Amino acid sequence: MSIAAEASEPVFTAFKTARPDQWVKGVTGDWEIIVGMEVHAQVAAKAKLFSGASAAYGGEPNSHVSFVDAGMPGMLPVINKYCVEQAVRTGLGLGAKINLWSRFDRKNYFYPDLPQGYQISQYLYPIVGQGVLEIESDDKSTIEVGIERIHLEQDAGKSVHDLDPNATYVDLNRSGCALMEIVSKPDIRSPEEAANYFKALRSLVRYLGTCDGNMDEGSMRADVNVSVRKPGGELGTRCEIKNVNSTKFVAMAVAYEARRQIEILEDGGTIDQETRLFDVKTGQTRTMRSKEDAHDYRYFPDPDLLPLVITQEFVDGIKATLPELPSDKRKRFIADYGLSAYDAGVLVADKEFSDYFEEAAKGTDAKMVNSWMTVELFGYLNKNGIEFTASPVSAQNLGGLVKLIQDGTINGKIAKDVFAKMIESGDDASTIVERDGLKQTTDTGAIEAAIDALMAQSPEKVDEAREKPKMLGWWVGQVMKSTGGKANPAIVNDILKRKLGIE
Ligand code: MN
Repeated sequence: MSIAAEASEPVFTAFKTARPDQWVKGVTGDWEIIVGMEVHAQVAAKAKLFSGASAAYGGEPNSHVSFVDAGMPGMLPVINKYCVEQAVRTGLGLGAKINLWSRFDRKNYFYPDLPQGYQISQYLYPIVGQGVLEIESDDKSTIEVGIERIHLEQDAGKSVHDLDPNATYVDLNRSGCALMEIVSKPDIRSPEEAANYFKALRSLVRYLGTCDGNMDEGSMRADVNVSVRKPGGELGTRCEIKNVNSTKFVAMAVAYEARRQIEILEDGGTIDQETRLFDVKTGQTRTMRSKEDAHDYRYFPDPDLLPLVITQEFVDGIKATLPELPSDKRKRFIADYGLSAYDAGVLVADKEFSDYFEEAAKGTDAKMVNSWMTVELFGYLNKNGIEFTASPVSAQNLGGLVKLIQDGTINGKIAKDVFAKMIESGDDASTIVERDGLKQTTDTGAIEAAIDALMAQSPEKVDEAREKPKMLGWWVGQVMKSTGGKANPAIVNDILKRKLGIE
């Protein structure tokens, strides 16, 4: 072996600073929740990890299956270089160590959807070593979660139990698809952090294009390891909750499981290390099987595959094509656009949001764009169940609307009407303002005339306002009404104050 390889057994490292705000109360006092996650992310590749069969989602059962995926005797696996590149790319996105020498092992177990009788995985020598992912904590601050490793492995097929009351069918379309198993360190401390970790990881792989992140299609599944301990005490026994497939369910599973363990321990019981399932209908976890240890799988190097050796040039070539990552973009949005950390976080969570924002904010007030986008546009889309990518208002058109507010062509109130018309017609703001005569009146003469007319109509209100300066608001409202909302509110204010003698 020319390049020294480092064996890496999963290590559970020292924990970070205690965060008492996240402890949970039990009858015997505080408990700390400890969570580590193993996320299986399917590589967005056309072909499988060791065969040329299609890795596309769906399709007629057993139509995307080569002899390799069916586990036929004598078939030999051939590694898909594209999948290797995606694992490296994901590792680089996590700032992780890339191992130039890694190895595939057989993980032996029997299951009807696993015709080979073993899964080809990486056990002691994964392709990606330690890295880090920034996530949001409960108090909206940013914390770092350590990444232990990423290894490449094959997916299994699928057992179909609900087609026939007396039989189970097997669909091998998924068999052999490439998975990246991304293992975190147990740095997560609450249900929300667990959900935020899953969200941040999904956002990252989507930025990188290494996984499509479609949880409904099973492209990302989380195995969530939960244990509890008294703050500062010994680490408790953990339970692993398998295949949780949404951020909401991750939070629910952690919350339920932690509470279950605390109750058992406070009753004087002990936690059995086991694999559990999360039931989405009840929000509870239940026993699936007692946990296997690594030795149960009889791991050994796959004799059909040579060690995977890549070069530093190969890694550097991939590094050169990395896009700006969410954590860097977030920092740039705060520095360049003056957004709050929270607003920047919302925008970078999805690459489509941040692309739209940057397009709309070109040459105009970025904070105003952010607020129109996240309040008005998101509000409209959520209320009507419309996907962001199907927004009836383009980025250019939202930017155009903000420009009209900024340069005083329309005021904020009229802008809301214009926005509603933009949604309806798809037209840009200038066209609508021009067509419907919505331009703000800054003509002081006209505004003054409107005010004089109103004052002549209600002299008693004039006297009242001279006594009670709070009446100014009522007067502004009257003037805006009489000018069809088009008067410039600042000018209206100035003239009214002067005429009513209000300081
Ligand atoms: Mn796995």
